[in-house]
Amino acid sequence: MLDTASNRPDLPPEIARRRTFAIISHPDAGKTTLTEKFLLYGGAIQMAGQVRAKGEARRTRSDFMQMEKDRGISVSASAMSFDFDNFRFNLVDTPGHSDFSEDTYRTLTAVDAAVMVIDGAKGVESQTQKLFEVCRLRDLPILTFCNKMDRESRETFDIIDEIQQNLAIDVTPASWPIGVGRDFLGCYDMLNDRLELMDRADRNVVAESVSIDGLDDPKLAEHIPEHLLEQLREEVEMARELLPALDPQSVLEGHMTPIWFGSAINSFGVQELMKGIGNFGPQPQVQAAEPRQIAPEEKKVAGFVFKVQANMDPKHRDRVAFVRMASGHFKRGMKLTHVRSKKPMAISNPVLFLASDRELAEEAWAGDIIGIPNHGQLRIGDTLTEGEALRVTGIPSFAPELLQTCRAGDPLKAKHLDKALMQFAEEGAAKVFKPMMGAGFIVGVVGQLQFEVLASRIELEYGLPVRFEASQFTSARWVTGPQDAVDAFVNANKQHISHDNDGDIVYMTRLQWDIDRVARDYPDLTLSATKEMQ
Ligand code: GDP
Repeated sequence: MLDTASNRPDLPPEIARRRTFAIISHPDAGKTTLTEKFLLYGGAIQMAGQVRAKGEARRTRSDFMQMEKDRGISVSASAMSFDFDNFRFNLVDTPGHSDFSEDTYRTLTAVDAAVMVIDGAKGVESQTQKLFEVCRLRDLPILTFCNKMDRESRETFDIIDEIQQNLAIDVTPASWPIGVGRDFLGCYDMLNDRLELMDRADRNVVAESVSIDGLDDPKLAEHIPEHLLEQLREEVEMARELLPALDPQSVLEGHMTPIWFGSAINSFGVQELMKGIGNFGPQPQVQAAEPRQIAPEEKKVAGFVFKVQANMDPKHRDRVAFVRMASGHFKRGMKLTHVRSKKPMAISNPVLFLASDRELAEEAWAGDIIGIPNHGQLRIGDTLTEGEALRVTGIPSFAPELLQTCRAGDPLKAKHLDKALMQFAEEGAAKVFKPMMGAGFIVGVVGQLQFEVLASRIELEYGLPVRFEASQFTSARWVTGPQDAVDAFVNANKQHISHDNDGDIVYMTRLQWDIDRVARDYPDLTLSATKEMQ
């Protein structure tokens, strides 16, 4: 076994064994199936099929909305914890659809690594590429799983080459597939000189593993027909010559990705991948914050909110703030300081997400994700500490790309709409703007589908039918600068000014030309398409 690298050698063992990661993939590559198998091996569920809700619904139980089931997309992210091989895995689910990229981006600020799932027949698809770019911005280590090897797939070298070319990252094979499609037998484990054979008869069974002594071991011939064995020897020899060897440090730095080949639906290759995440994935990392960064081994507890989700469970009409623990050893009942408001908060009912069931979290270590039920005090970007005024940085909010006005179907209920929209704004599900002139709200999102999700949720959760209609604006920019310059600008452009749900000033227009003009006429102002959540 290769040595694994650790860039924080002094971590307490409980923290060192944590691996917090997300799965990135293009829809249909097999993320849900792989998640099920993780949970199966992690002992979180008895039968992989249980993750999919009964009947025709085909999503994991981490998805709560009817809409998701209807559409077959995962709208809400959630976190799942499970143990495997002495490691504690925290898997943070990312919404798969491109319309939710902002949510996904923020989710990726809460993990230390990503598992990239690609379909062996399709290679690197558009959504994978986009998500990969986001990971790269943060130098996140990436481990790759090439799925669906039980089907006709591309040549192994082609797949590896495509990843290297498209994503500009070194790829090192951790396993090598034997045969393709119907002839796919299993993989040669390049790291441990083992043969992993796939059992097609039982999808939930652990694959057969045969220990061998290199590629010349006569035992190989007992399991692999001659022509495939010859091909395997040739390919592995070529791979060892042409492709870089596994360098754990380079993996941790995000320059190299090890790739495992498998078939999630047949539970094949999944355990090897899990061991890989354990052995080569990063431990909890240092968190960027102001005025100083936060190290996981610090005794004092700190954490930050990266996601807020309301009405997750119709039985508990609450909202849950997902908090990534950045340091220390948290115990239930602790009083933490909510840095933004400087108020103490007793965290008495933190939740740990074990597969589909919520459980009270008695404790949590740096790296863990806990859910804190609350009534709206906790917002995305908030930091919790044991008193120190630290503020986690790097959690962005993007200017929406689509703007529509939102009206209540029943005018008598208009004031409830206010409340509903504010809630979704705090969840980060939409931007809500109150125009200075005129009535109503303008809602901003990144993708069209989000309007539909919002309309359906407002109706479902608030009993309030709403209509979204075209707005006169198409772009929004946050305005900052010296107070007098901001005031002068606002006074001269009232028709274009709104306040966002934090009360910050936003300039709206339909012309890029206007934005350029403001930049020219008001050199002291900054018009910005992103703002830090705080
Ligand atoms: P997601 O959209 O990425 O979550 O993908 P899913 O896990 O829902 O899988 C998409 C489809 O591919 C489903 O019909 C799965 O049954 C199928 N699938 C997943 N893994 C495999 C695999 O290893 N082999 C084959 N043949 N099909 C798979």
